[in-house]
Amino acid sequence: MAPSDPALCAEPPTDRNVKHVVLGDLLFPTWFQSIYPEDLVSKDTDRLYVCRWCFCYSCDSLAYAQHARRCHHRTTPPGTKVYDHGGYSVWELDGECHKLYAQNLSLFAKLFLDHKSVFFDVASFLYYLLVFTDPKDSDNYYVLGFFSKEKLSWDANNLACILVFPPYQRKQLGKLLMGVSYKISSWERDSGLIGGPERPLSELGRRSYTRFWEERIARYLLLRVGKTGEAEVPGSVPLRQKSPKQSKRKPSHELVTVQDIGLATGMLTEDVITALKGLGVVEPATPAKRRKTRDASGEAGLGEDAATVLIRKSKVLEWARSHHMALRDPVRDEGFLGKWAPHDAAEESSVDGGESDR
Ligand SMILES: [Zn+2]
Repeated sequence: MAPSDPALCAEPPTDRNVKHVVLGDLLFPTWFQSIYPEDLVSKDTDRLYVCRWCFCYSCDSLAYAQHARRCHHRTTPPGTKVYDHGGYSVWELDGECHKLYAQNLSLFAKLFLDHKSVFFDVASFLYYLLVFTDPKDSDNYYVLGFFSKEKLSWDANNLACILVFPPYQRKQLGKLLMGVSYKISSWERDSGLIGGPERPLSELGRRSYTRFWEERIARYLLLRVGKTGEAEVPGSVPLRQKSPKQSKRKPSHELVTVQDIGLATGMLTEDVITALKGLGVVEPATPAKRRKTRDASGEAGLGEDAATVLIRKSKVLEWARSHHMALRDPVRDEGFLGKWAPHDAAEESSVDGGESDR
């Protein structure tokens, strides 16, 4: 996959068969070779006109203008609205029920994604459109990007492809989509699903996701309250085998495992580790602390000591400040609608731990 949000658009390759697209009234260059049918889009197209509502396409500006006047999706995106907060909404559509739309969306997306074979088999995927609605005109909306997701993923992928269209990048919208994908996956099963994006990640995808994971983990570490109810003091948080006894005796520390963090955030262990490394807040535990931890839990074995590390909350806070991270998750539980709507707003957690409330 090749996400987009903080995507630093490299110089477009010169061998692209479609050089520019006109999406609604926006003109911008493409990034990669297209897979539009050659009988409809010639090998050397300077401008391809794409409907901003249904993504149907034409090389002919007149035909495009005529279509725009009678497009069936002029006032409402297809599918079902599943999230709505702060002017942004997310619409879920089934590739099987909206085949042509999904195919046209995929063809358009391929202009900005350097990979992938998912573009034809749209029936096996759900698509989540990120939509901005004009606050002064509820019938005027813009699709800003989307992510796709396999209906049945044996690898627990919560996302297959993600793209924020180039004119709308660098507005943190990729993080919004990634956050929605984790939320929805975590609510799919009673116990919550641990997952992540389909691999391998492109370089841009890796960067985008690493930053998203860092913020997700930073929020989790900063906002969580220990199971004992004690607010954590800015001390250290050894990441290791849980030990309630140890927690009671040492209120300045809480023992958690990487797996605990993964469970609470819906993230794979490897992604939690990537985030912790990226945050740069992990310190090796001192020998004395390792020994105490082992004595208290009585479970440490060879090799486990090596995994014992400390995370100081003050350092996480420092990272959050220096990266201008909003403490509150931009994806709000109360924004979810329909089958994903919160059952009881009173149970809602103010932190990511809310995922386990489902
Ligand atoms: Zn249209």
